[in-house]
This record gives sequence, C-alpha cells and structure tokens, in this order.
Amino acid sequence: MKHSIIVGFGLAGFHYAQQLKAHNKEFLVIDKPKNSASRNAAGICNPTVLKRYTLAWKGSEFLNYAMPNYKRFESEFETTVFHPLPIHRHFFSAGEHNSWSVASQEEGLNSFLDPIFHTKSTDGIKRNFGYGSVKNVGRLGVNRMLDTFFTALNLNQKLEESFDYTALEKHKEKIVYKGIEAKNIVFCEGFGLKNNPWFNYLPLVGSKGEYLKIKAPKLSRKQIIKGGIFISPIEHDLFWVGATFNPKDKTNAITSEGLKWIRNKLETLIDTPYEVIHHSACMRPTVTDRRPLLGKHPDYNNLYVFNGLGTRGVLMAPLLSCWLYDLIHFKKELPQAVAINRFEAYFCKPNKSYV
Ligand SMILES: Cc1cc2nc3c(=O)[nH]c(=O)nc-3n(C[C@H](O)[C@H](O)[C@H](O)COP(=O)(O)OP(=O)(O)OC[C@H]3O[C@@H](n4cnc5c(N)ncnc54)[C@H](O)[C@@H]3O)c2cc1C
Repeated sequence: MKHSIIVGFGLAGFHYAQQLKAHNKEFLVIDKPKNSASRNAAGICNPTVLKRYTLAWKGSEFLNYAMPNYKRFESEFETTVFHPLPIHRHFFSAGEHNSWSVASQEEGLNSFLDPIFHTKSTDGIKRNFGYGSVKNVGRLGVNRMLDTFFTALNLNQKLEESFDYTALEKHKEKIVYKGIEAKNIVFCEGFGLKNNPWFNYLPLVGSKGEYLKIKAPKLSRKQIIKGGIFISPIEHDLFWVGATFNPKDKTNAITSEGLKWIRNKLETLIDTPYEVIHHSACMRPTVTDRRPLLGKHPDYNNLYVFNGLGTRGVLMAPLLSCWLYDLIHFKKELPQAVAINRFEAYFCKPNKSYV
C-alpha cells in the first residue's frame, strides 16, 4: 500500500512529494499537465511587501525554511534552480526615498532592505527617482525544478491523467483509486480545487494574472526590477514581465487591456527596445483571507488539502508541506491561520457565497 496519492503537481504537490521522499514514504503523483499557476509564475522568492514596505506574513520564517530546501534539491539533482538576485524597487517620487530609509531600519525588514538607495541608471533601465535594493532574495526556475523531479520518478510513482473523482473509494483506514491503495490522498490542485467535490466548499476566490515574455537584448540581467510590475530575467535575452491581478475574471484568456496595462508599466521602467514574444494568463489560487488552505476533510479521515498558495507559492510551499506532513503523521496541530477548520461554517452551509 502506498502512503499517499498526491493529486496535482504544481509547487504544492511537488513540495509534499519531496517531504514524503525525504521520509522514505511511497507515493503516487497524479497530474494532468495544464495551465498551472506554478508553470506560469515568475518564480520570485520575496518575503517583503514592496508596496507597503512590510514583511509578508511569517516572511522570514518561510524564507529560512525554503532556502536550504531549494539548496538540498540542487545538490541532490545536481542542477541549479535558485538564482540569487537583488530586487530593485524603483521610486516614482522623491518622497519614496524617505519611506524606504525608514522601512530599512525596521526590525525584520532590515535583513532585506538595503538602507542606501541608488540614483544611477543601469543598462536599459530608466532612472526615474532611483531605486532601493532588496537583498537575500531571488528567482526560482520552477519549470526546471518540477520537470527534473517528475522525470526522475519511476513509472509506479506517477500517472499523467485527470483525476477521476468518481473512481475514489473511501474506506476507514485507506483509500483506493483504480485499484491503487493508499493510506491517504492529498489534493494539491491549485485553482482546479473548484472541481473537487469534497473541498470545493473552501473560499478559494482565485486571481487572474496576465504576463508577458519579452526579448530585450540590451536590458541588464543583474537584478529583478519592481515598479508596479516585476521584470525578471529568464535566460539569454528573455525577461518575464507582469503581472495583472484580477480577482473578477475567472478565465485563463489573455486580453488586450491586460497587454496594454503591462506595456504601459514596462515603458515607465525601461528605455531600451523590446519585443513581446509571449502573452499568457493563469489563475492564482488566492483565498478570501489571503492565507493558505491546509488540513483534513471534516468528514473523511484520509482526505487532505494543500492549497491557497496565492501569490507566494515559492516562498511558502516548503514550510507548509512540512506542517502538513507533521499533521498527517504526528497529528501535530496546524497554525490556526492556515487550518481549513477556520472555514467550518462554509462546510455546514455550502451555498454561502464568498466571491
Ligand atoms: C502570472 C503569475 C505569476 C506568479 N508569480 C509568482 C512569483 O513570482 N512567485 C511566487 O511565489 N508565486 C507566484 N505566483 C503564484 C504561484 O504560481 C502559486 O502560488 C503556486 O504556483 C500555486 O501552486 P499550486 O501547486 O497550489 O497550484 P498549481 O501550480 O496551479 O498546480 C496545480 C496542479 O494540479 C493539477 N490538477 C488540478 N486538478 C487536477 C485534476 N483533477 N487531475 C489532475 N491534475 C489536476 C493542475 O494541472 C496543476 O498541474 C504567480 C502566479 C501567476 C498566475
């Protein structure tokens, strides 16, 4: 009997599979490669909120767990997936210099915000009112990491198909899916949770993000730029640029408004020729209260969910996967902020509207 069946192989499914692998537990990953959030993400790992100059919720704690995790992956698979790069937060008024200086002295933030701000221009980047630099951050090559791990799995550890919810047999001590037995099943479906008959009561609202890939041969690759949007180097002369944040539109369709909005922001930041080579859109798995969704189904002992990574999957998924492992194996209580039992009222009244 397997230990777990994992449905969905984005950042959530990957990190939970990693936990099981590290503890020598057998698992099966079921994933139908689609337009997943993880495969569209810029991969930026940033524990700060650069709009308000605060730390993200448990930002340092998540980062301290995530970084050694990615390093371990790199040495185990002899590859490079994490690229340390500063984020240059561009200013659009002189008043922002003061806010930056104040924030950079604050406990917690002072590990990331360099107090000295810069006014000189870099290749292809407009000077505007200069920028402040965020250190100890970077970019994860998410696709490379997922592909490396998935390719290395044995054939009895992966199934490339859409999960058939009607084929799941639920017993007291185990679950059975198409003849495959496991102690439990963990749903890591991102926005696909909407189709899950057991967990779709949870208030996953989703926020669409449109982004571009551009070719800009003369643009500096030494930093990630933040100024309304992110501009992040990918490889060669390619850059990831975005993203919009739209909680109303629940489709993966690209729009001319999205394209225009991103290009306008981009052109306030760079002054070098560029060519748009790709425009795409995907739903982020965001939750009404902006916290992840972890835990056991209220009625079924061996059905679990790992979702709600929102805009910071790269940062949060490693430690969250550890919390979920400890819940399942040691019955260790989850931090209340992420436990799905905070939405018990939605389970009791499934028609309650939250969108
Ligand atoms: C445009 C954009 C930019 C982003 N940039 C960043 C960033 O820079 N940094 C950051 O930290 N986060 C970023 N995010 C957010 C990040 O992508 C998410 O937090 C994270 O990837 C969510 O991971 P997940 O595994 O929960 O979901 P997903 O990545 O969506 O994975 C879910 C997987 O489950 C599969 N699945 C679903 N249902 C089924 C089923 N029934 N059967 C089989 N398979 C199924 C899907 O095909 C998919 O492979 C960004 C998101 C977007 C959209």
